[in-house]
Amino acid sequence: MPVDNLPTCGQARAIAEQVLDPELPVLTLADLGVLRDVREDGEGVTVTITPTYSGCPALDEMRADLRRALLAAGYERVEIRTALTPAWTTDWISEDGRRKLVEHGIAPPQHKAGPVTLNLTPPTSKVPCPRCGSVRTTELSRFSSTACKALRRCQDCSEPFEHVKEI
Ligand SMILES: [Zn+2]
Repeated sequence: MPVDNLPTCGQARAIAEQVLDPELPVLTLADLGVLRDVREDGEGVTVTITPTYSGCPALDEMRADLRRALLAAGYERVEIRTALTPAWTTDWISEDGRRKLVEHGIAPPQHKAGPVTLNLTPPTSKVPCPRCGSVRTTELSRFSSTACKALRRCQDCSEPFEHVKEI
């Protein structure tokens, strides 16, 4: 590859951050917090990601999207590594990401409070409606279009909406 086509150093992270999540395409991988490390080495780049929902079929797609974006930017070798510990949780979703979800009518996951405590009530009992903000919402189905989202309905505006489940 001609030298003047070399990607700008430091560009790889910015490119990787803009790749969209296959399951929640309103969020970038940066919003999700799954990008652990982006290392450039000459014309190669190594990206380390932590998959979101374990066994999520979107992982392969996420890898392929990252590879495609970085190859298109001029990197010759793209390696995608997976780090499983510490495990990703929905708390890693940025405030920006949460705001984007609400803007798209999807209820973001609730922040989990501190250390995990044994809790017999479902953690999703008070999910505010992304449209009107009412907390009088009920879960219609544990799964909606993807396994990571539940389907809920607001009792005040009676609109159904998707909720990204806390993990
Ligand atoms: Zn509502």
